[in-house]
Amino acid sequence: MMGSGGLVVMDEDTCMVDLAKFFMDFIQRESCGKCIPCREGTRRMLEILERITQARRSETGTGALERFKGVMYLTRLAEVIKDTSLCGLGQTAPNPVLSTLRWFRNEYEEHIFHRRCPAGACRELLHFRIDPDLCKGCTLCAKKCPTQAIMGAPKSPHYIITDKCIGCGTCLEVCRPKAVIVD
Ligand code: SF4
Ligand code: SF4
Ligand code: SF4
Repeated sequence: MMGSGGLVVMDEDTCMVDLAKFFMDFIQRESCGKCIPCREGTRRMLEILERITQARRSETGTGALERFKGVMYLTRLAEVIKDTSLCGLGQTAPNPVLSTLRWFRNEYEEHIFHRRCPAGACRELLHFRIDPDLCKGCTLCAKKCPTQAIMGAPKSPHYIITDKCIGCGTCLEVCRPKAVIVD
């Protein structure tokens, strides 16, 4: 949707799920709150998008179940908001989700089923690892890692404990031999 005449050009470095999330965040804050479909529905849609761009470690309690339930209801919820909102804001609010789902469904599937962000935009879904052939065991990354996710003895190849990594990127920045790989 072009709105009032804007045209945005994007390439493969733009994540369509992240883009939809950006618009939903904006729209749910713009909602005046007069009618329930727009007020509550846009918040629920944002929550669903937040869940599918979250890492497994961020899920608590019934998080995984809520994640799949949300995905199943995403299109239905979008259609109900479109059909039942009082004004144009609510009636067009789900469009970013519906159009990205329609044209970039594969990107949603990567996030949902493989917890991967092909564009590398959803930070929580990035996977950091260390190439043992390049690592000199200088220990710098382990000292700087905010979650103590990096293990290894001095002068030996280090490794990252995936479940503890929050994807901050510090190890990538400090490693001189470029041994840290992100995928
Ligand atoms: S659809 Fe319009 S009236 Fe209803 S909450 Fe949204 S902005 Fe307000
Ligand atoms: S900073 Fe690089 S070379 Fe040093 S221990 Fe970490 S991964 Fe290995
Ligand atoms: S990305 Fe951040 S949290 Fe993850 S291993 Fe590297 S420094 Fe630690």
